[in-house]
Amino acid sequence: MSQIERNVKAILAELPPGVELVAAAKGRTPEEILQAVQAGVKIVGENYVQEALAAYQVIGSQVKWHFIGHLQRNKVKKAIEIFDMIETLDSLPLAEEIEKRCRQKEKIMPVLVEVNSGREPQKYGVLPEDVENFVRQLSSFSHLRVLGLMTMGPALGDPEEARPYFQETRRLFEQLKSLSLPQVEMKYLSMGMSNSYQVAIEEGANLVRLGTKLFGPRQY
Ligand SMILES: *Cc1c(COP(=O)(O)O)cnc(C)c1O
Repeated sequence: MSQIERNVKAILAELPPGVELVAAAKGRTPEEILQAVQAGVKIVGENYVQEALAAYQVIGSQVKWHFIGHLQRNKVKKAIEIFDMIETLDSLPLAEEIEKRCRQKEKIMPVLVEVNSGREPQKYGVLPEDVENFVRQLSSFSHLRVLGLMTMGPALGDPEEARPYFQETRRLFEQLKSLSLPQVEMKYLSMGMSNSYQVAIEEGANLVRLGTKLFGPRQY
């Protein structure tokens, strides 16, 4: 068994019931991703549409594909052909483009709203105080389905320092759930990466996005 397969099996055995693994695959070859899939990965997360297309050629629809990078509007047309969920919806213009392209293809795209929980100017995502209004606006888009929230949180050495950002995102998640907006179903809370997923799960994450922990150190 390869190291990747061992890592995947160990993580799948460790995750509590109800928490799903997204294999964050940026910079990995289609063959590496395939090993992870053969070891039980059901969801692959990709940051780049081009990279995803190459991996999709090899792996196809035996897994779900989640987009987890920053989606440029000029990549939406391609993205909606392969992705089952866009975890990083972060602006109205992007939502409008996804709506338009999905209408043309008669598709409905599940999305998560990316929250900039650390209020970091260099990061994408909607500021916590703007999330409710944004989701209310999305609620009228008939070809999008808001299924939850995603956050990165600041990159910190100590995972404990990420806890307040996860807590704030969880609070927003519960608040939105209580609004019962049309076409909005608060089902997924995507938080936590290799160094922080345990804290994220304690704070209510049910999707964790792991790269290094499965595939080893990476270039980017
Ligand atoms: C790369 C990446 C991850 C995984 O990061 P690791 O620290 O390698 O686990 C998770 N989420 C997003 C959005 C990423 O870009």
